[in-house]
Amino acid sequence: MKYYSGDFGALTAGTSFSLTLSYEKASDALSISSLQVQPSQPLGPSTAGRVMLSNYVPYVIIGFGLLLILGGVVYFWQTGRGRNKSRKKHHSSDDSESNSEVYCHQCGTRAQKGDRFCRVCGTKLRREA
Ligand SMILES: [Zn+2]
Repeated sequence: MKYYSGDFGALTAGTSFSLTLSYEKASDALSISSLQVQPSQPLGPSTAGRVMLSNYVPYVIIGFGLLLILGGVVYFWQTGRGRNKSRKKHHSSDDSESNSEVYCHQCGTRAQKGDRFCRVCGTKLRREA
C-alpha cells in the first residue's frame, strides 16, 4: 500500500475545490492476496478473545439436562392429569353400565336405566344386582 499526501493551501469557506485522481493497475489480480494476515502472537487457549468450545460444553450440558428434566416433569404432569381424568370417566361409565345392565328374563331385551317393566313384553323386571 502506498499513501500519497499533498498540501493544497488554505481554502476559504464557500470556495469550490476540485481534485482529479486517476488510478491505473497493471494486472487484474486482487491486491488482497498479497496482504498476508499473521497473528501478532502465537494463538493458544490463553489468547484473549479466543472462544473455546470446551469452555461452554459444561454449561450446554447442564442447560440441556435442565431442559430434559423440565420437559419430563411437564410431560408426566400432563399425562398424569389426563390419565386420572380418563380413569374417572371410565369408572363412572362402568358404574352406570352395571346399573343399567338389566335384561328381561322373558324376552331378553336390555332394559334402560330406571325401567321397572320391559319395554317390549311388559314383564316386571327383576332388579338383582
Ligand atoms: Zn321382555
